Amino acid sequence: MNSTSFSSLPLTPALLSNLDTLGYHQMTAIQAQSLPAVLEGRDLIAQAKTGSGKTAAFGLGILQKLNPAWFATQALVLCPTRELADQVANELRRLARAMGNVKVLVLTGGAPMRPQIASLEHGAHIVVGTPGRIRDHLGRATLDLSKVQTLVLDEADRMTDMGFYDEIANIVSACPTRRQTLLFSATYPDDIRHATASFLIDPLEVTVEAQH
Ligand code: ADP
Ligand code: MG
Repeated sequence: MNSTSFSSLPLTPALLSNLDTLGYHQMTAIQAQSLPAVLEGRDLIAQAKTGSGKTAAFGLGILQKLNPAWFATQALVLCPTRELADQVANELRRLARAMGNVKVLVLTGGAPMRPQIASLEHGAHIVVGTPGRIRDHLGRATLDLSKVQTLVLDEADRMTDMGFYDEIANIVSACPTRRQTLLFSATYPDDIRHATASFLIDPLEVTVEAQH
């Protein structure tokens, strides 16, 4: 067991054996630098390029503390686009495979509201969505974020570039104050730093320059 092996982490045997099945034998650089703190419950700001394995860096943090027997939305992942939300949801479903029935629901714009509202009536453990659509559901009271324990802002720089700041701030304020917040971004310029500072508490900052 070396320091980049997943087995050095306090993950459940089910999650560890599933990672093995997926062929994830070594952590990528961003995973090795962020997962120990994420699994301790710390807030995180992580800067790393596309393809560096960021989804598992937050996904394992979500899943390790998720209770599948509690049918409430325990985690929310915000993504800039529908395609990215679909990708994240699929990766979360793969990571969750060994945990039994974990429902991951995608809520993005462009799709009709009615089926999304019907799905929400059945509940979901993890919601992955775009800020505009999540904000719409909050406005209609069709989504309850009061049980969220992990909030992820994925590709935060792209979301702010796309003008989603107000929606994000509104969504953050609908989550419990006592939560873990994980922010991922390819770049982290001062304007995003200032805009998002109030969303996180004493975050660990991790930057990975080269890809793994
Ligand atoms: P990012 O969000 O940083 O762009 P992803 O989370 O989408 O990256 O991961 C990129 C690819 O790497 C995915 O296909 C994922 O399944 C794979 N991957 C992630 N972590 C590992 C790992 N530790 N070992 C092997 N493959 C991995
Ligand atoms: Mg990603």
